[in-house]
Amino acid sequence: MTSLTGSPALKVQVMCEGIRYTPALAAAAAHSMPNYYPYRFKEGEPDPTGRGIATIPYLINLGDGTEIRILGNGDSPWHVEGSRDAGYRLVDDRDGRSLPVAFEPLRPWQSGQTRDGMPYAQAGVSTHGDMLVVNVAPGCEYFLHKHDGRSMRCSFCAYGAPDERTKHLGQVTGQVQIPQATLERMAEAMDAVIEQAGVRHIYLVGGSLTDWRAEGERFLQLARFVRQANRRRIPVALGSGALPDDQLAQFHAEGLVEHVCFNLEMWSEPLFSRICPGKARYVGYERWIASLETAVRLWGRGNVYSAMVAGIELDPEHGLEWQDAARIALQGAEDLCRRGIVPIYSLVWPSGGRQRPDYHERIRAYFETLTEGYAEIRRRHDLAVADSFMCHRCAYMQLECDVDRVAEATAA
Ligand code: SF4
Repeated sequence: MTSLTGSPALKVQVMCEGIRYTPALAAAAAHSMPNYYPYRFKEGEPDPTGRGIATIPYLINLGDGTEIRILGNGDSPWHVEGSRDAGYRLVDDRDGRSLPVAFEPLRPWQSGQTRDGMPYAQAGVSTHGDMLVVNVAPGCEYFLHKHDGRSMRCSFCAYGAPDERTKHLGQVTGQVQIPQATLERMAEAMDAVIEQAGVRHIYLVGGSLTDWRAEGERFLQLARFVRQANRRRIPVALGSGALPDDQLAQFHAEGLVEHVCFNLEMWSEPLFSRICPGKARYVGYERWIASLETAVRLWGRGNVYSAMVAGIELDPEHGLEWQDAARIALQGAEDLCRRGIVPIYSLVWPSGGRQRPDYHERIRAYFETLTEGYAEIRRRHDLAVADSFMCHRCAYMQLECDVDRVAEATAA
């Protein structure tokens, strides 16, 4: 039984259970930011497209600004009704509960282009609510390496494979520096996005390199460029992999970023090694945490983060029930907070175990337990997510900002 209430309780439910297809959801896609993952009709589900897949919106906005990522699920009790003119409603079949919702809009920049004709959408920028994500070198070298027949990519990762995006951006394997033309196109796109999307946070990310020092050089180049291009001085977060101490000191000395976020992804060395073999091999679990600790010494408690994937460890191959998975994740939250590092948990559905009748239930029990337990740990360590790093308007699959917002409102 969860103690979550209000928008956070609803958000966990919708994130864990997904939303099933309706014509209203498909109609919303015409004027909304499109989902990166198309809706896949399940076997036997009525499919008016006849193609097995449909485009759906990416993000739902509740009336209080809460943002929720949409995951298509033909078994979900949640569906969308209504229209753009009449307004949309999210409906729960189980009790008929219905509430007004909107979708993250399709903005003009998404069909704009740079002076030399590159669509902004291919220029290495994207948004989640009021966060601008800069990713001008998305190809991850871990996808190109195998050891003992096993790929070094993180097991949950579907976005780091070198592909068409990397070609548009001029990313070449083995070349550390980002082409100047790529940076200049990105800056043009960035100006348009900042103007139209009310951007309040900038997050620098990219695929990993097997040499962490080379990755640091690439991010130094990127952060220096963004520092010049970011005329409104919007807070910037460094979302590279863990980096050597002297490079971190350089970022700090030059005042290039306000926040640091090196994604450990998974607490406990055995799970980290299995789920993130490239990070384990080319950086190492202890070195990753040590690098985060160096960042705390430089930027201070509360300015250093680590994104964590939550739920992937329920994959049957790891042999964990949700109670064990939640216990390990909460041990990690306690340990990281003690070091002044703030983990941020993103729900990732396990790919296996879907035949289990309690597939969605156990994900939800796990995520609710983690969310509630972690809120108490943050309070005890007097750590909050800095509003300049991330807020409820951009946390599309994370709960920390939503839970803390409700707690603050209740205490006021
Ligand atoms: S480091 Fe892992 S999560 Fe990041 S792009 Fe590479 S494979 Fe994907």
